[in-house]
Amino acid sequence: MSEPLRLYNTLTRSKEVFKPIDPNHVRLYVCGPTVYDYAHIGNARPLIVFDVLFRLLRHRYGDDHVVYVRNITDVDDKINARAAEEYPDLTLNEAIRKVTDKTDRQFHEDAAALGCLPPTVEPRATEHIAEMRALIERLIASGHAYVAEDNVLFSVASMPDYGRLSKRPFDEMIAGARVDVAPYKRDAMDFVLWKPSKSGEPAWPSPAGIAAPGRPGWHIECSAMSWRHLGEIFDIHGGGVDLVFPHHENEIAQSRCAFHTPVMANYWMHNGFLQVEGEKMSKSLGNFVTIRDALADWPGEVIRLNMLKTHYRQPIDWTITALRESQRELDRWYPLAKQYAASSAMLQPDFIDAINDDLNTPDAVTALRRLYKEAMDGVGLAGARLVSCGHFLGLFQQEIAAWLHNKPTALTVDEIRVTRLIKSRAEARAAKNWPESDRIRDELAAMGVALKDNKDGTTSWEVKR
Ligand SMILES: [Zn+2]
Repeated sequence: MSEPLRLYNTLTRSKEVFKPIDPNHVRLYVCGPTVYDYAHIGNARPLIVFDVLFRLLRHRYGDDHVVYVRNITDVDDKINARAAEEYPDLTLNEAIRKVTDKTDRQFHEDAAALGCLPPTVEPRATEHIAEMRALIERLIASGHAYVAEDNVLFSVASMPDYGRLSKRPFDEMIAGARVDVAPYKRDAMDFVLWKPSKSGEPAWPSPAGIAAPGRPGWHIECSAMSWRHLGEIFDIHGGGVDLVFPHHENEIAQSRCAFHTPVMANYWMHNGFLQVEGEKMSKSLGNFVTIRDALADWPGEVIRLNMLKTHYRQPIDWTITALRESQRELDRWYPLAKQYAASSAMLQPDFIDAINDDLNTPDAVTALRRLYKEAMDGVGLAGARLVSCGHFLGLFQQEIAAWLHNKPTALTVDEIRVTRLIKSRAEARAAKNWPESDRIRDELAAMGVALKDNKDGTTSWEVKR
């Protein structure tokens, strides 16, 4: 095997050489979506990042020796609310099935359009209630959980090293958990493993001799599904950095205390935040972009390449300017790359070294750029290496004719004309010719181009759909 694989482990805050428990059975778990609405572009990040990790693990250990589990959360208050709102004439359970089936289908279409391989297993929470109940019974039996007013709560005080992953001071954890101080809790930090269902809500027979039917808390789902499909201890657990606390901390608490193990997973990986045009994405700011919106404007491979240009642990700024540049690069590479056949034997050593270095995809993309240049200069194998490395990242999947035909709407404006008009407008403004400046702005607006000005002039532009 080539160079060792190094991964940054949130548990130890250091880059470590990856050693699987069993190289013939490498096990990866990533927290999946809660299915009630279109996923936003921030959700595309873990999809793409962990897809690259999955591809790398398959490359290193063999396709049949890697198990990638990504769960689907199909029991949740947000799902119930959406179901009641969208299908008021159905029973809640029927409405929930409609919402979760539809959202689940949309999510899979999005993931496929982004070039992500299907995970090995995609367990649904509602199909693992028996495992959740079994875990809860174990936790009660060993004194890590207790029953209070038909709820089952995890007792944080029962686990001396609770908080090892997030390493937060206790008072910060209390604030971060946004705990509701229910009177039946022994401690404010204690979290729900099981709670009674309200009338009409999805409900299952409760554990621990509780007569009232109930439903699971969120955290217990992942402990149950990873246990069922990957065992008591597995190799890698991943997700967005926003899940470190409380979700992953609580998964660890549940699994370790249920099985009396020193860890739940050996390596914990977290991708950074995504913001849009320099601002936090939010529905109230009007900059909320779904994966579906992005795919309406750009080919999936452009979104994918653009995502991989930033290292997964860094925050990423999602901008039209960067997407446009990613489109241009693929447009340049495609006709050349498609002249060659991809082969894993043709992977460029410094490309694969970059990926092995904690998924350093920005360096891997730099290697692609150099290979393109070398191929254009007529360097022997460079073209075959370019397509092979691109393939490894999930690029160059389309036929060349389809690629050239499928131009994104965001690129259909005449960029040379836009650039010329922006220059003329800057000159008009410098001459304090405001009517002319306004006229040019209107002309651009008629082309669908929106300018972004700051005190130094126009800094960027985008095409409004
Ligand atoms: Zn999870």
